[in-house]
Amino acid sequence: MTTLLEVEGLAKHYPVKRGLLGGAQGLVRAVDGVSFAIARGETLALVGESGCGKSTTARLVLRLIEPTAGTIRFDGTEVSGAAELRALRRRVQVVFQDPYASLNPRLRVGQAIAEPMEVHGIGDAASRAARVKELLGLVGLAPFHADRYPHEFSGGQRQRIGIARALAVQPELVVCDEPVSALDVSIQAQVVNLLEDLQEKFGLTFLFIAHDLSVVEHISDRVAVMYLGRIVEIASARDLYTNPLHPYTEALLSAVPIPDPTVKRQRIMLKGDVPSPLRPPSGCHFHTRCPIANAGSCRGEVPELREVSPGHWVSCHLRG
Ligand code: SF4
Repeated sequence: MTTLLEVEGLAKHYPVKRGLLGGAQGLVRAVDGVSFAIARGETLALVGESGCGKSTTARLVLRLIEPTAGTIRFDGTEVSGAAELRALRRRVQVVFQDPYASLNPRLRVGQAIAEPMEVHGIGDAASRAARVKELLGLVGLAPFHADRYPHEFSGGQRQRIGIARALAVQPELVVCDEPVSALDVSIQAQVVNLLEDLQEKFGLTFLFIAHDLSVVEHISDRVAVMYLGRIVEIASARDLYTNPLHPYTEALLSAVPIPDPTVKRQRIMLKGDVPSPLRPPSGCHFHTRCPIANAGSCRGEVPELREVSPGHWVSCHLRG
């Protein structure tokens, strides 16, 4: 499989100032040296609690914000100048978490779906209208829905509209930024299934952002777990779910419900909240919450992200 997206040493740091005239107080390292690659047709899930940097990573990949450091290569070309950025804008699309907030309430659904085609100068009014109807069919809606407004739809239907809009310009990579987090559990599976069907049909590549591991279990080929701006474990979905190595991954996994009522999983409750990225803990950033942390290397040394078996990388002094 060929690599479609390659991210190397990606970082986003925000300087924090004291008061109106104060000097820099420190740096919030929202994303702190993240590297990964996604093959064409693959789904990589990026998972972690709120504040771990996964959505900032998504925005960096979409180039909605400028990276502080690092490179993004798309289809073999580094995205650095205006021409590459223009191409990226068409070839990479996004499905947002909140489908209602991402749709203009004053635009009819047909106009909202046609808008990206207009922006990129694709087709004329008639061909765009025909394409809108085709897209509505692809996401399980009807042609007459083009004349309705977003408020006339349920949350699940609005997310289908968001997906149709993302597919309008035939992207290769779709960044799915928590696309089902705002939906009822009963609707979540339908939307995930739809994304899987569309991926198969059009050979799409997905970067799928989620805050827990239950949502991405079936859709992802590989999973990267993020904590305080860094990837702490990355592996194939099968390896990560059956043989998690990082204690943070174990804790996230312990919260995933098991469909078999006779099987009970011991839930690992982590103490405290994610520390502030303004003052991350020394050594391993996870040591303040880690159930097996020691007072030596865990507190004193940053663990490297090491490949411990083919394709399975973990950043922990005691595991792997
Ligand atoms: Fe826990 Fe230490 Fe591993 Fe960090 S390096 S995850 S603190 S055991």
